[in-house]
Amino acid sequence: MEQRIDRIKKQLQSQSYKLTPQREATVRVLLEHEDDHLSAEDVYMLVKEKYPEIGLATVYRTLELLTELKVVDKINFGDGVSRYDLRQEGAAHFHHHLVCLECGAVDEIQEDLLGDVEDEVEKRWNFQIKDHRLTFHGICHRCHSEDPSS
Ligand SMILES: [Zn+2]
Ligand SMILES: [Zn+2]
Ligand SMILES: [Zn+2]
Repeated sequence: MEQRIDRIKKQLQSQSYKLTPQREATVRVLLEHEDDHLSAEDVYMLVKEKYPEIGLATVYRTLELLTELKVVDKINFGDGVSRYDLRQEGAAHFHHHLVCLECGAVDEIQEDLLGDVEDEVEKRWNFQIKDHRLTFHGICHRCHSEDPSS
């Protein structure tokens, strides 16, 4: 955790931003909840536990800054809420998501798996791919096993 905070700090510094205590508190919350997909309000509530004086606007601005610096990615699962997701270190592209239609769980696929598709798209549409958002909608393994008819 400390090493990752250190690297994020350097990343900010390289763009001449400082990792202020409030920004650091926000980054810590994101790291502690790495598997969750927190909204700005979720992050705010968690940061507030440690920094009761922090405002939603400050948290929001920090999240926007981290998005700009590609430390986090912003994603929307169709409920109109922007969620913030830490980008895997060194990952060229954003990871994929599996959204369960039954229980609402969001699982992640960290492998890109799209190499062939990306080659095809780049060739056929002469389009240089920088990133992508891929969300699968379906029934997760937990809901599968609870349903005796499937
Ligand atoms: Zn994710
Ligand atoms: Zn990719
Ligand atoms: Zn499910």
